[in-house]
Amino acid sequence: MRPFDYVRPSGLPEATRQARAEGSAFIAGGTNLLDLMKLEVMAPTRLVDINRLDLAECASLPIGGLRIGALVTNSDLAADERVRRDYPLLSRALLAGASGQLRNKATTGGNLLQRTRCYYFYDTSAPCNKREPGSGCSAIGGATRLHAILGASDHCIATHPSDMAVAMQALDAGVEIETVEGITRSVPLSDFYRLPGDTPHIETVLEPGDLITGVVLPAPVKATQIYRKVRDRASYAFALVSAAAVVAVENGTIGSAALAFGGVAPRPWRNHHAELMLAGERPSEKLFEAFADEVLGEARGQGGNDFKIPLLRRTIIATLKQATEESQ
Ligand code: SF4
Repeated sequence: MRPFDYVRPSGLPEATRQARAEGSAFIAGGTNLLDLMKLEVMAPTRLVDINRLDLAECASLPIGGLRIGALVTNSDLAADERVRRDYPLLSRALLAGASGQLRNKATTGGNLLQRTRCYYFYDTSAPCNKREPGSGCSAIGGATRLHAILGASDHCIATHPSDMAVAMQALDAGVEIETVEGITRSVPLSDFYRLPGDTPHIETVLEPGDLITGVVLPAPVKATQIYRKVRDRASYAFALVSAAAVVAVENGTIGSAALAFGGVAPRPWRNHHAELMLAGERPSEKLFEAFADEVLGEARGQGGNDFKIPLLRRTIIATLKQATEESQ
């Protein structure tokens, strides 16, 4: 690990000001960043510890909905009675991620910003455009079991590893950001992550010094919520494929449907166009198959991850079947 400065501000303005300097990085739980620093995948020259900031509360909003502070831990969020009652798929997704010890330290903001688990990203002897722009992508033509079938580019085929973000995507969450100028802005989670294109090292819309201060969930709707995760072992494993669904069936027809998918793309994947196919229709195997075909229309395997295309198709159909049956 390389030497670095360490500061622990007690207020937001100081935190964003300290993080403005080149080479700075925020640290909260540190469950991903410290590993990356030990491996010298990341080598920040200054760590800005935000644990003294007042961002560890969940607050019910007067208009309905929930504001989750960026420092709320994954364990506390999964156990929050409002989350368990109104957003059960978020609680399930959180509990499907990592281990109990990691969830006790990992925070809401940090979970959104965790880095890919692409093997080559962590191997500093391998070319990787995300770690070292312009060096190449070792995954293309290499081991691709964990890699993307949607949204990838010729420069990077990594997936985003979060379960929590997939659930939040289906719930239409917004990300609250404090800028270095002291301005608070809100970005829909669907616009927060950037696709890799030819700049896979730029993963989000955050500018230098920007700090995630919270996540806002809109008021809950009456619907069935499902989180389904397919992985290589029963716990402490990243998703090969996951699906989060918020589906409402009224009088035998689908009133609304929001579905997001994990383990298959550089960001939680959602296809609003495909969702329009479901609204107003009666649930049927044929409809679910057509929806899956639309979602997978541009899917492309890399050899080692070809299996994800039929796996996601089966997962989508099973998730929609369960959600619509439970919603009737
Ligand atoms: Fe790096 Fe992305 Fe290629 Fe993995 S897939 S080696 S993260 S550029």
